Amino acid sequence: MKVLISADMEGISGVVHPTETNPGGYDYERARALMTAEVNAAIAGVLEAVPTAEVLVADAHGPFRNLLPEELDRRVRLARGKPRPLGMLAGLDDATDAVLFVGYHARSGGGPAVLAHTISDAVLDVRLDGRPVGEIGLNAALAGFHGAPVVLISGDDAACAELRELVPGTATVAVKQALGQAAAIALHPDEARAQLHRVAARAIRRHDQVPLVTLPGPLRVEVDLYGPYTVDLATLIPGVSRAAGARTVAFTADDVAQAYGLVQLLTQLAQIKPG
Ligand SMILES: [Zn+2]
Repeated sequence: MKVLISADMEGISGVVHPTETNPGGYDYERARALMTAEVNAAIAGVLEAVPTAEVLVADAHGPFRNLLPEELDRRVRLARGKPRPLGMLAGLDDATDAVLFVGYHARSGGGPAVLAHTISDAVLDVRLDGRPVGEIGLNAALAGFHGAPVVLISGDDAACAELRELVPGTATVAVKQALGQAAAIALHPDEARAQLHRVAARAIRRHDQVPLVTLPGPLRVEVDLYGPYTVDLATLIPGVSRAAGARTVAFTADDVAQAYGLVQLLTQLAQIKPG
């Protein structure tokens, strides 16, 4: 059995503020330790259910270099660094049997939710065939494209609800109740880990009962970008056009995988400043 754990940071218990999720910020070092421990709890649950499972962890926050490799459960392998194929789901393939989202957050506009956004602050919204999707929706669709169900999510209550809407029957661990973009009432980290361990084991045992997210292509993809210069750059890519509204670019993708790759690239363009 092959299992992929994609780990983000905004949905870790106790984390509520951008300084905690940005390298160099106040309490970032503490937050990455909390993140590593929460991922270890999920790993323990997976391997309790299926001791022979091959588990890959994809560090999926910011620079993709947050988890402390030496503190991670030694029975897994770690995908670290960026850019890389399949982004937050690096290592996913058609042989993957189940995907877990640990520490995830709600989409931009999906609040009240802790640190809600879609990929980066450079993106105001992403729509697939007119339907707003965040990282949860995009990653669940990419997992589904490769035949893998998302069997568990942990994060705040809004993130859990966002996946449950797409995947009825998925397991959820709400480690905090959102009070706003930078405030929550959180479980103690030990309690969050205990729940994750228990629920991950259960989720793996019933992974074949969880439905796939399937979005057949072609897909119309619209991305609302914050910066006008980023919009200018985006429209230099063949097939990407300026859509109605100066901040929106659009393209048609053959399938989810192509849409996912190009959305990743568009968000990275925001780091290029006028020359
Ligand atoms: Zn993140």
